[in-house]
Amino acid sequence: MKPQRFIAKLTDKTDFNEKFTKYVFELDHPNEMEFESGQYVSITVDEHGDRRSYSICSNSDTKHSFELLIEHLPDGVGSNFLRNLKFGEEVDVLGPLGRFTLIHGDDCEELVFVATGSGIAPFRSMILNLLQDVGEKRPITLYWGLRYVEDLFWENEFQDLVENYENFKFHPVISRAIEEWPLCKGRVTDCLQVHDVPIKGGYYLCGSAKMIDDVNALIQERGVSKEDIHFEKFN
Ligand SMILES: Cc1cc2nc3c(=O)[nH]c(=O)nc-3n(C[C@H](O)[C@H](O)[C@H](O)COP(=O)(O)OP(=O)(O)OC[C@H]3O[C@@H](n4cnc5c(N)ncnc54)[C@H](O)[C@@H]3O)c2cc1C
Repeated sequence: MKPQRFIAKLTDKTDFNEKFTKYVFELDHPNEMEFESGQYVSITVDEHGDRRSYSICSNSDTKHSFELLIEHLPDGVGSNFLRNLKFGEEVDVLGPLGRFTLIHGDDCEELVFVATGSGIAPFRSMILNLLQDVGEKRPITLYWGLRYVEDLFWENEFQDLVENYENFKFHPVISRAIEEWPLCKGRVTDCLQVHDVPIKGGYYLCGSAKMIDDVNALIQERGVSKEDIHFEKFN
């Protein structure tokens, strides 16, 4: 799908915690955008025409609106623009953009998604699409690294998917976890180190450049082929 300009209106938002907010935009003109899960939009965030890229976190089966998951940075230009946006206000959107989409028809036996922070955004779209629309039957494992337990959200949503789809597993990984945190602690690489990394897996990595470099090194060392590793760096 060729990228084009859209005018969209903010219609809803959910503040999950101090860092993360989900924004819902209704497309106004044109009023429909075809995109593939994993793609992103570019939004004008100031009067100079500066833009920021944001992955669409909603399922690609929805075409009249899209959702974004933003990790707010203190004094970030885009962060402040979105925080100050009022319901009904218009934004200038260019999209859909990017090639970080699911590879169809490969011979990977499993799919592994590894995110840090807002890097979860394209994976929510991809995983909803795979489980709810495509009917993917291969094992799918999601690792999601966050700093604090308080940063975690969508755990009920992913837990519901675990309960409804026997091929889906979810591992939140907390780097600064409290003593009682019962699940993976440390960095996502610490969690991957102690889990069986499928050699014939298709890997999708998204978030900080450091995490992507570290995971790339770890899984390639274990024998995963470079061609089966796909990533999007947010910084
Ligand atoms: C393809 C793509 C998709 C993206 N999707 C998302 C998404 O879905 N959700 C989302 O929240 N972000 C996403 N990003 C990152 C986003 O585009 C912005 O770069 C980020 O939100 C910071 O923008 P800002 O204007 O708020 O901060 P800026 O004003 O650009 O920067 C403020 C300060 O924060 C530092 N900084 C910039 N980026 C980061 C970062 N990621 N982590 C830590 N410090 C940083 C800068 O060096 C500067 O000091 C994506 C980036 C790319 C390339």
